[in-house]
Amino acid sequence: MRITRRDFLKWASLSASVSALGACESTGRTTAADEPASGAARVVVIGGGFGGATTAKYVKTWAPEIDVTLIERSPTFISCPISNLVLSGNTTMQDITMSIDALRQRGVRIVRDNVIAIDADKRQVRLAGGSTLQYERLAVAPGIDFLYDQIPGLKSPDAQQRILHAWKAGEQTLALRKQLESMPDGGVFVLHIPVAPFRCPPGPYERVCQVADYFKRAKPRSKILVLDSNPDLVSKKPLFIAAWEGLYKGLIEYRPNSELVDVDARSMVVKLQFDDVKGDVINVIPPQRAADIAQKTGLTAEGQRWCAVDWLTAESTLVKGIHVVGDATLSAAAMPKSASMANQHGKLCAAGMIALIKGEPVTPPVIMNTCYSFVSRSSAMHVASVHAYDAKEKSLVPVKGAGGLSDRASEIEGAYAWGWAKNIWADSLA
Ligand SMILES: Cc1cc2nc3c(=O)[nH]c(=O)nc-3n(C[C@H](O)[C@H](O)[C@H](O)COP(=O)(O)OP(=O)(O)OC[C@H]3O[C@@H](n4cnc5c(N)ncnc54)[C@H](O)[C@@H]3O)c2cc1C
Repeated sequence: MRITRRDFLKWASLSASVSALGACESTGRTTAADEPASGAARVVVIGGGFGGATTAKYVKTWAPEIDVTLIERSPTFISCPISNLVLSGNTTMQDITMSIDALRQRGVRIVRDNVIAIDADKRQVRLAGGSTLQYERLAVAPGIDFLYDQIPGLKSPDAQQRILHAWKAGEQTLALRKQLESMPDGGVFVLHIPVAPFRCPPGPYERVCQVADYFKRAKPRSKILVLDSNPDLVSKKPLFIAAWEGLYKGLIEYRPNSELVDVDARSMVVKLQFDDVKGDVINVIPPQRAADIAQKTGLTAEGQRWCAVDWLTAESTLVKGIHVVGDATLSAAAMPKSASMANQHGKLCAAGMIALIKGEPVTPPVIMNTCYSFVSRSSAMHVASVHAYDAKEKSLVPVKGAGGLSDRASEIEGAYAWGWAKNIWADSLA
């Protein structure tokens, strides 16, 4: 059930050639030929991750008459879901590396550039390449950035090269895999987890399983020390504990309430309130916030990390005309920061923007989340939830009795997990 990059690209490109509309600029400079048909409403989307790509795709699919531009600064899309399996050698970077270019065939204009400023009064987006794009409605889906200010020893680029996060899949994923491969058998891998909320609540515990799977095979005398700032595992606790005690007995030590004070990247030490811990490989997942462009635009309230939105349309509660989706949002009750959710936010936002542009009533949304975690090469388990808009609460609230948790990890769920990944890549990116 594994999808390879070649399979994905073959599938995504279908047989169609790149349309004249889609095959536009890669520099970000707008040319006369790329101007929207006069009178067409313009939607601009910042960020071609799960949230932004889905928003762009579904605005264009549901309202082809709207002009849609998606701005993404990275040349390739590298999926965080499944990336923990690269650390264990259970999959490869090629398997999680893909392209958003197939969206061009749907009529989405793709601009490869970095957004450096948003002028909400003039409804303009300014790009590093020098051009300015006008919008009627803007969706901001930039994901997360890290609060390095809270970890003085990790501020320098040099320290960040030695103590990795690998919490944005890409170069760091590969670099952490190399650190694990270079670690001597009998070494200690230290993983530090920040206080929730953070991107992908079960992600750190899945990472522990994947590193343990690798150590069990390749470095059986090694140890994993999990330093969790939280008082307990924040997701799928009984299932992860069952895996740690069943599959990886004696390999993993879990220490709750281990808030980080600092790190020393030279001596490879993690400093906690009452203790210093040395590791051969240290992986610190730093505390997080909505990414820079959201913060710079005033989409986060003073002293807040995340962007509050009206969950009917994902429009910012602070800046009119701008919608925010994905990890950058202030989550509604029991809503995780996940690719599954970002994809659903994208559809909610697309429907909301279209209704607002056309002056039609907005249908109250119902969205869902499914999140799989691999405990070994082939076994996985899931957690699922449904969230419906509640007019009284003016928010999305979890639907009682809907969703749930696997009773155990299994190989059949491992196959479903690959199916989920293949499906969400296709639904968001192609
Ligand atoms: C190890 C790990 C495992 C995970 N596993 C799962 C899983 O199994 N299931 C699941 O549902 N979720 C999982 N997640 C969570 C999931 O990856 C995120 O929730 C999801 O990526 C959020 O999507 P997003 O669109 O908000 O942000 P992103 O996917 O980060 O996309 C943001 C995009 O915006 C672009 N961007 C940012 N700023 C600018 C700018 N100024 N100009 C232009 N472009 C810009 C970035 O380049 C990026 O491509 C995992 C995360 C991690 C770290």
